[in-house]
Amino acid sequence: MSSADSIVAIASAAGRSAVGIVRVSGPDVPRIATEILGKLPEPRVATRARFRDTEGNSLDEGIAIYFAAPASFTGEHVLELQGHGGIVVLDLLVARLLQLGCRAARPGEFSERAFLNGKIDLAQAEAVADLIDAGTSAAARAAVRSIQGEFSLRVHALQAQLTELRVYVEAAIDFPDEEIESMSDRAQSGRLAQVFDAFDALLAAARQGALLREGLNVVIAGKPNAGKSSLLNRLVGDEVAIVTEHPGTTRDLLRHAVEIDGLPINLIDTAGLRSAIDAVEAEGVRRALREIGRADRVLYVVDAGPAHAEAADAAARSPDLSEQLAHLPSDVAVTIVFNKIDVAAIDAHIDESSTPVRLFLSARTGAGIDGLRAHLKQVAGFDGAIGGTLSARRRHLDALHRARDHTQKAVEAWGSSRSPELFAEDLRYAQLALGEITGEFSSDDLLGEIFGSFCIGK
Ligand code: GDP
Repeated sequence: MSSADSIVAIASAAGRSAVGIVRVSGPDVPRIATEILGKLPEPRVATRARFRDTEGNSLDEGIAIYFAAPASFTGEHVLELQGHGGIVVLDLLVARLLQLGCRAARPGEFSERAFLNGKIDLAQAEAVADLIDAGTSAAARAAVRSIQGEFSLRVHALQAQLTELRVYVEAAIDFPDEEIESMSDRAQSGRLAQVFDAFDALLAAARQGALLREGLNVVIAGKPNAGKSSLLNRLVGDEVAIVTEHPGTTRDLLRHAVEIDGLPINLIDTAGLRSAIDAVEAEGVRRALREIGRADRVLYVVDAGPAHAEAADAAARSPDLSEQLAHLPSDVAVTIVFNKIDVAAIDAHIDESSTPVRLFLSARTGAGIDGLRAHLKQVAGFDGAIGGTLSARRRHLDALHRARDHTQKAVEAWGSSRSPELFAEDLRYAQLALGEITGEFSSDDLLGEIFGSFCIGK
């Protein structure tokens, strides 16, 4: 599959830099290279050249590299011009290439062509974007593993395992008279156990990867003056939020990214939840509730201050607190943070036996903050062992879950009905879901959405 037109884009970062790179891909590259460079460089050899305008005058000079199809990133003919990284000079170069018949590339179009030409699969293309956007070194390492194909290889291995199971039952459909061992047969159930183990291991690696990429969304909520902003500042280790004794200071959302042992956390401080006294505060409360609805975890901050230990315990059971919690969406994961234990003279601790979990700390002194950090890592399921982590997105996790569910359904259907048709059908759905990850089965809409989010020149 080859595109009819040739595309051009600046591949290096916008702005001034020592070197700027312009990339061209498409069938016209040999002609274009000959015109702009005087002759077509030998493939894959860095060649010093002048970049010429229509009259043959130099626009710039630098290094040209020609990659002949199909041995290139996109699988098409590719030309890379490495010149000086000035904004104007790069624009002039692009203008010249447009004049020679190129079209300006859409965001992600080089990667899209690489995908369409079978040079990389969808998970790898996404990992390229993830590597460029990686916010932590752990996320970058996970992206590199996925680019190198480890994620895709494991998805393919799972597909092969499912095919093996299908072959077995399809034999039962095709040759109903033959004696075929039952699924409870030891070899078969051993094979099934292996499939589920592979699913679970891949899900764990991908879940870590998605966490590294997207972070855990933690919303700090509670009544005004409970100490939400102080807690945010304590976790960020800096004065990012205004702390005052006046209730209702934080009216809009304050976002801050922190990292706990490599786990990225998106912290969101919200307006205190109370009946608002004006329209601005009402909007703040509305936004707070919206963020709470999307949170991976809500830290519901309660002032343990005026009370002492027993009273804090009583506060936990008080109708007032239950009433406050009742305002939160029912499906959101909550940890109740009893703050100001320095005033209440309570030791920092965590009570995991209660629902929701209760954590006692002081944003002012910092007592119990390490416990909160450990708690967040634990609820995220973050094990810190990033060695085997694969860069992944929620879309991948969703597909993996669906594939596992279909496989589970297949096994259950077999157990109850012994219907090889149903078994094979469910396994086919599982394989389709896995194929969405690598892009074997994916809609144009999904591809547009994925590549459209890439930057230009990628
Ligand atoms: P918010 O309205 O929930 O964001 O609360 P703030 O963070 O603005 O804190 C309200 C007041 O409580 C401020 O005067 C803080 O200094 C105080 N405060 C916050 N955390 C603690 C704490 O752990 N101990 C004590 N003694 N005071 C605190």
